[in-house]
Formats: sequence, structure tokens, C-alpha cells
Amino acid sequence: MILAILEPAKGALTEASWETLTAARDLAHKSNDSVTALMIGKGVNALAPTVKGIHTVLVAEDPRLDSYVPEAFAKIVSEVITQRSPKIALAPGTETGNDLMARVAARLNLGLATNCVEFSVEGGSLKRVTRSNWGGSLLEELEILSSPILLTLAPHAIAAQSADGTTPTVETFSVSVSEKDFRVRIKELIPTQKKGISLTDAKVVIGGGRGMGSAEAFKMLEELASLLHNAAVGATRVATNNNWRPHSDQIGQTGVQIAPDLYIACGISGAIQHMVGCKNSKKILAINKDPEAPIFQRADYGVIGDLHQIVPALIAELKKLKGA
Ligand SMILES: Cc1cc2nc3c(=O)[nH]c(=O)nc-3n(C[C@H](O)[C@H](O)[C@H](O)COP(=O)(O)OP(=O)(O)OC[C@H]3O[C@@H](n4cnc5c(N)ncnc54)[C@H](O)[C@@H]3O)c2cc1C
Repeated sequence: MILAILEPAKGALTEASWETLTAARDLAHKSNDSVTALMIGKGVNALAPTVKGIHTVLVAEDPRLDSYVPEAFAKIVSEVITQRSPKIALAPGTETGNDLMARVAARLNLGLATNCVEFSVEGGSLKRVTRSNWGGSLLEELEILSSPILLTLAPHAIAAQSADGTTPTVETFSVSVSEKDFRVRIKELIPTQKKGISLTDAKVVIGGGRGMGSAEAFKMLEELASLLHNAAVGATRVATNNNWRPHSDQIGQTGVQIAPDLYIACGISGAIQHMVGCKNSKKILAINKDPEAPIFQRADYGVIGDLHQIVPALIAELKKLKGA
């Protein structure tokens, strides 16, 4: 059995959870095995029927586990692994998923490969995994000798696919956590100032770099975003360091990893630390006045010129199209 550990948030499963389920189903298909999903938290009973095409959903329902409680979650996952003996336990490679699985690995004295991007199944068993390191600039191939194999899946490494077919059996997993498992807990979540669509959900992301020149200039990127469907504005580290944008808008190795249909990079040189955050974009359009800028080597479309003329021209054309 392959255990997929899912992350419910705000009454739904996260995109990273659907990607994890897709990877688990694929691994099970290749190794002629079944998938059991585990959901921990408050209200997970109601979420269980939304998962399709797998054998079982285990629900560890507890109102005290509304948000991530590191030791309690690690205890529950460790108990499930000990009792159910999966061959592989796979969680999303989010900050929470990586933290959780590191704790589980330490508790059970098992090996763990985080942020996997590829799985190599031979003769019905998982032989090797490829994991992304240093923000995606290094790929590492690993063979894990301990059993069960603990893995996390790098966000956006694969696209989430819906499955039709069987509705799984829902089983309750009784939670045996005590007060001492709550020594570390989240007391408050402070939302970012950002309004509208998040960078990770947006279908179009417009990024601004040093070439923007000021915080004021980002207003035209906001205007461009407002004219496009499902678009959000991001930035490079130069822009966030200059306080032109909040740090939460930073795309890259030390920022957000995005995977939109289109990334429009304005006044961005294409440094590796930035590109690892946007390399999963389906298409990249670069606007840069320097024809030698490295971003043009990665871009699908390029416009050579001053963004302060090109972006307003784009806005004007879009307004014309919309009859605004
Ligand atoms: C450990 C580490 C982690 C890092 N993490 C990140 C990260 O997460 N994200 C990140 O972005 N960076 C990160 N960086 C920084 C990264 O190395 C680059 O310095 C940064 O991405 C460059 O930002 P930029 O493209 O805005 O600026 P620059 O490299 O200075 O490029 C500006 C570009 O704008 C163009 N330009 C200027 N004016 C105009 C104009 N009017 N019209 C059109 N084009 C114009 C220029 O030709 C140039 O290509 C990290 C660095 C380190 C060392």
C-alpha cells in the first residue's frame, strides 16, 4: 500500500495535496499496489468523499488539530505507518509536509527524501527518486534503502489530475494525542497584506525587477494584471529589498515558487535564483531593454525595449480590446 498524506486547509485540500495524490496513484499503478490517503485535522470527515480513485481514506478527525501541530501530527503519521505498513509514505513537499516527514523519519529511524520530482519504478518497485535541491539548481538521484520509504513531492513537480472511478472506503483513525504533543503549536496566523489572487494560484503572473525603477512603477503592473484573467503581480529580490514590493511577493529560491500558464517578466535579468522560482511556468514572456539579458535564453517570447513604454502600450491595447 502507498500512503498519501494530504493537507487540508480552509475546508478543502491544497493543490499540493492533489499533486501528491496523483503521484501516489501513479506509483501504485506502476507497482500494482493500492493507495490509502490520510487526512488529519478538523472537518476532514467531510472532505474524505471528495477524493476518488483510491482504495481507502483514513481520517484522523480532531478539533484540536485545526492547524498544524508538529508533534501531534508526527505521532499520528508514525502510528499509521507502524500499524498499516505502507511500502511508501508520500507527503506534499510544502514547508509543513517537509517538517512533518522529517519528524516522522526521526521517530521511526527511517530515511527520507524531500522535494522529489521524479520516481523510477523498475520491476514493480521504487528503485530511485530524483530530488530537487538548492532551489532547483541541483538534481540529486537517490536510492533509499530503509523501508518503508518516506518521500515528499516538490510542489508543481507534476500536474494534479482528477480521477474518476471508485469512491474510497472511509475509515476513522482514532487519535491518541495528549497535552504533551501540543508543546509546539501555532498560536496565530497573520495573513499577508496581499489582496486578490495569490501568486501560486494565478494563471498569469507579472513579475517586476530592478528595471521597474520604483514602487510607483508597479502600479502599471497591477493595472495590467487587472485587465487579464486570474493574474497577480510578483517581484525579484532586488524589488523586495528596495521595498518596492512586500517580501511575500518575491519569486525565486528564497521566495515563492510559481507555475502559471504565463509569466511576464518585466525588467528582470534572469538570475538563476529568480529563475528557479518561475521555471515551472508554461510560457515566459520577457520584456527587457538589454538584448543580451540571460532571461531571453529561458523565455518563449521576448520583447526588447523599455518596459516603461511597452507595458503602457500593452495596457492601452488590452483596454481597446475590452472596449474600456
Ligand atoms: C542566496 C541568494 C538567494 C537569492 N534569492 C533570490 C530570489 O528568491 N529571488 C530573486 O529574484 N532573486 C534572488 N536572489 C538575487 C539574484 O541573484 C539577483 O540578484 C536578482 O534576481 C536580480 O534581480 P533583477 O533581475 O530585478 O535585477 P538585475 O539583475 O539588476 O536586472 C535588471 C534587469 O532589468 C533590465 N532593465 C533595466 N531597466 C529596464 C527598462 N527600463 N526596461 C526594460 N528592462 C530594463 C536590465 O537590462 C536588467 O536585465 C538571490 C541571491 C542569492 C545570493
